[in-house]
Amino acid sequence: AKGDGRSNYRYFSPEMNANMLERIQLEQRLRRAVLQKEFCLNYQPIVTLNDHSVIGVEALIRWQDPKFGLIPPDQFIPLAEETGLIEPIGEWVLEQALIDLHSWHNKGYMINMAVNVSGRQLINGNQISFNRLISKLLKKYGIDAKYLHIEITESMLMEDREQCLHALEAIRDHGMDIYIDDFGTGYSSLSYLKSFPISVIKIDKSFVDNMLECQSDANLIKAIIMMGKSLELKLVAEGIETEEQLAFLHSLGCDFGQGYLISRPLPSYELTNLLIQRLTP
Ligand code: C2E
Ligand code: CA
Ligand code: CA
Ligand code: CA
Repeated sequence: AKGDGRSNYRYFSPEMNANMLERIQLEQRLRRAVLQKEFCLNYQPIVTLNDHSVIGVEALIRWQDPKFGLIPPDQFIPLAEETGLIEPIGEWVLEQALIDLHSWHNKGYMINMAVNVSGRQLINGNQISFNRLISKLLKKYGIDAKYLHIEITESMLMEDREQCLHALEAIRDHGMDIYIDDFGTGYSSLSYLKSFPISVIKIDKSFVDNMLECQSDANLIKAIIMMGKSLELKLVAEGIETEEQLAFLHSLGCDFGQGYLISRPLPSYELTNLLIQRLTP
């Protein structure tokens, strides 16, 4: 009884109250944002490391709040996942990404589109609706499934192996490529990776950041690349910011890269301009 009183007191401390209030307000604003479609997508080019040609883009969501301005995904995707709002948000992302991809394909730029997908969109009975949604949208915009790539984080794979495996197999059967995002941060093993139908590993930015100064990060990247190649997977390095980083990754046999050195994530019209400059259809 006394113990309860004390924990209640802590629970309702002013600081805690402020945090809860903030969270509730954020959730309310996010609900409104979903209804009013206050989101937009930026696109970051993914290029080959040998001749820097653009093979695709990664779609990255931004939230344009009327009062607070541009809110980055790290500040609302976790809340969206907790509250289930990630499902309507994820649907919006897929459709908008395919609308833009359709317009680039129409102009003759046959690039790929990589979309980030949260676990919540795939598992707990959502798997069937996710695959239906994909079929419907690919048909609606006349896009071949081979151009749509799905990015799943390594940590998500480790959370719920069985459900993930089924969901990913369905995606793969559809003809889409699956990328493992943020690879190297989740400590998954070679045999674990082998059991999933994936085609691409994305090496996490944190290793790229330090690989030229830190021998153990360099060794880790070498090991990931060797492992990926032995499993016949393609490799993408994220967060490339310098020529030196790009040259080093290229020398190790990494296939693709993305990062501020090549281009920041861009609004669709700026990405169109970049394609016009860099690719002759
Ligand atoms: P991520 O999928 O690992 O995306 C890469 C992040 O690194 C992006 O941050 C990108 O802007 C940033 N980045 C790329 N190159 C560089 C570089 O050279 N230097 C630096 N410092 N940063 C670079 P962003 O756009 O803020 O996205 C953060 C995370 O939010 C993403 O990480 C992803 O996990 C999540 N996210 C973004 N869009 C979506 C979405 O549509 N759905 C879901 N479920 N998650 C999303
Ligand atoms: Ca990603
Ligand atoms: Ca990543
Ligand atoms: Ca990340």
